Amino acid sequence: MKKRILVTGGTGFIGSHTTVELQEAGYDVVIVDNLSNSSADVVDGIEAITGQRPAFEKVDCTDYAALEAVFKKYAPIEGIIHFAASKAVGESVLQPLKYYYNNTVSTINLLRLMPENGVKAFIFSSSCTVYGQPDPENLPVTEEAPRKKAESPYGNTKKIDEDIITDFCHSGAPVSAILLRYFNPIGAHPSALIGEMPNGVPNNLIPYLTQTAIGIRECLSVFGNDYNTPDGSCIRDYIYVVDLAKAHVAAMERLIGGKNQEAVEVFNIGTGHGVSVLELIHTFEKCTGVKLNYKIAGRRAGDIEKVWGNVDKANNIMGWHAVHTLEESLSSAWNWQKKLRERGIM
Ligand code: UDP
Repeated sequence: MKKRILVTGGTGFIGSHTTVELQEAGYDVVIVDNLSNSSADVVDGIEAITGQRPAFEKVDCTDYAALEAVFKKYAPIEGIIHFAASKAVGESVLQPLKYYYNNTVSTINLLRLMPENGVKAFIFSSSCTVYGQPDPENLPVTEEAPRKKAESPYGNTKKIDEDIITDFCHSGAPVSAILLRYFNPIGAHPSALIGEMPNGVPNNLIPYLTQTAIGIRECLSVFGNDYNTPDGSCIRDYIYVVDLAKAHVAAMERLIGGKNQEAVEVFNIGTGHGVSVLELIHTFEKCTGVKLNYKIAGRRAGDIEKVWGNVDKANNIMGWHAVHTLEESLSSAWNWQKKLRERGIM
């Protein structure tokens, strides 16, 4: 019998790509999503890619009773990958209680339900945001770098959730966890059947960029060219979403196979390379042949100047590697944007 994995937030950007990779690796997937920032149509896209329809339950993970019913209905569940969370940095500053409530109560509910339902493996969707701006001697940043004070309530919920999970796994509870700290996920499935679907005006660079390239937005603002970086624009580690999705499969296999060495393990998931905003724009123009309308604008409040990951631990211990190039990632994002236009969505 196939092993069954519960994926919360499975209709979202990273959750949908991870569901595809889990199914292609031979797992059965149950998606739980409240559809607050995604659409149930994504399940059709997943089915079109894999030939297998994941189970879908429209449930909010803050609803303990509804979540419990899912655990019972789909028993036995072998593992959980927890993506469901509110994630808009700006909104989190304006509505901190929404973020603290959603993002911590969901995690607590899942953890509470694990022992009584015999679920032992938990993977958490964390972020390099927990490192803040690493000190120059700590770049590329390793998992051992100190976590810094969060820049936003959203970022703080990632730190708090990491602590909640760690304390629970160290309490003697029969649960092991892997915390995956993502750098900047970009791109879309090569089929262009699933991808990133921001609500309203995008905050993130790639959807803003592809929407500008296709004419939905007039001009991309580059937030600052006076940073202490070679070309003055900020540096990030952009990781292809399919590579990132595969990291979850590797982590799940590690936990289910009992190969983890500690109750809680932490892995950076990135490419190990930093790319500036201007470099990224020029790479996009080169690999798609599309000229982008952009201008230099002022700095965005709260932006980190430069961060990229040391991913030796994930490479050596999990045997996972990011294999796709920035060109491939950007081309896939562009193909997805064009597909949305063809389908009359944007
Ligand atoms: N960025 C930009 N223009 C935009 C959106 C983002 O120049 O319209 C820059 C931003 O300053 C940062 C990088 O792109 O240096 C990545 O930003 P994003 O919001 O995608 O991710 P994060 O800031 O969380 O790393």
